[in-house]
Parts: sequence; C-alpha cells; structure tokens
Amino acid sequence: MTTSDETSVARLASAPVPVGSTLMQLTVFGHVGADGQETEEVVTLRTIAPRRESGTPPIARIHSACFTGDVLGSEKCDCGPQLSAALETIVQSHNGVLVYMLRQEGRGIGLANKIRAYALQAAGHDTISANLALGFPAEGRDFRIAADCLRHLGINRVRLMTNNPEKVGQLATLGIAVEDRVPLGGFRTPFNEAYLEVKDRLMGHLDALGATRPLLGHPLAAPPRGAS
Ligand SMILES: [Zn+2]
Repeated sequence: MTTSDETSVARLASAPVPVGSTLMQLTVFGHVGADGQETEEVVTLRTIAPRRESGTPPIARIHSACFTGDVLGSEKCDCGPQLSAALETIVQSHNGVLVYMLRQEGRGIGLANKIRAYALQAAGHDTISANLALGFPAEGRDFRIAADCLRHLGINRVRLMTNNPEKVGQLATLGIAVEDRVPLGGFRTPFNEAYLEVKDRLMGHLDALGATRPLLGHPLAAPPRGAS
C-alpha cells in the first residue's frame, strides 16, 4: 500500500503559484526521515486571501493522484475532468482548497498495480474484481493525512466536492466537519461508463453518472481536459 502509516505530516515548502492566471498558495506536505530525507505526500492549493462570507466554510476537493486521468487525460476514469472542474470551482469561490494526494494512485495501490488491474480489466474484470484478484481491497485509501493537511491550513469545516460518502464519513471521524457535499459527476465517456456504473452501484458512490445539482459557478457540461 502506498499510504504511509504515519498520519502526521509536516509542511515542507510553500509558495504562491499561478494556476492559470490565478495566484494560489501551493504547499507541499510530507514526512522528514531521521536522515533528513523528505517524502512528499500531499500538495495543497489554497485560494489566497480567502473571502470569508457569513461563516461559509471553504469549498474543498480531496483528489487522489491519477497519472492516466490527470496527466494523460485518459477517459478510462473521470479523474481528469473532476480535477479540472473542482479546480475551477475552487478558483471562482475565492475561498477554497484542493488537497492533492500524491500517493493515492489507483485508489491507493500505486501506478504499477493500477496498470496491472487495467490489464485484468482488459481481460474482462471490473474495477473491483481486478483489485481483489491482485490481492488488494476495492478501496484502499486512508484520508487521515488529508485531514491533517486541512488542519495545518487552519480549516476544520468544509463543503466537500465528492461523490464518495466514505470520504465524507472518514473526514467527519477525523474531526473535519463536512457541512455540505457537492456532487462532482456526470463526466461519462464510452470508456468510463462501466467504471462509473460500478462506482455508483457497487461502491456506494453517488452521482458519478450525473450530478443532481450543479457545482458552484461551474457548468458541469464543460468538456474534459484536452477537449477542444
Ligand atoms: Zn483516474
């Protein structure tokens, strides 16, 4: 498993970085070993000078790294358009945060194992049975580090963009109040439809096939990253 057993992370580095043309505060969190070696775990992107209106908590997305979806724009999953939509919503909100989990590729099994699972899926497995065939649970993620990073940023209540009730439940248990769940779905393609159906029907996700209400200020019909 790629998630560290250590649940407490330190702030390793932080600087303002333009995302598109919007300056945001990028912070890298991780562990420092006894030999001084740094292990990077999480990148957060926080809107600068967040607008705190009427006590509304920041809009947040906890996103697991997905090389194929986030970087390559693969339509085998919906990670790429979820990340783009979430980031745009965060930027527009003036009070939001992205928590990008660097070590949660493939729902926590790592890139090589994810590609092994893809090979099994090409031979007829679904996303759950492929993970089980490789000896992994269907869902191997642990959000303790995400909660820790939010606390480092002074955030203990959020409006969370997710379709995953398990994520909401884990955060609440970890002391981060999820005051609203904002669906982040509807990004279906011919390549990911079966995957999204498994997430909705077998993994208890909500709205992966289609959000029931719109994201704040973001057209859900926005084309996936890389589309013209
Ligand atoms: Zn993905």
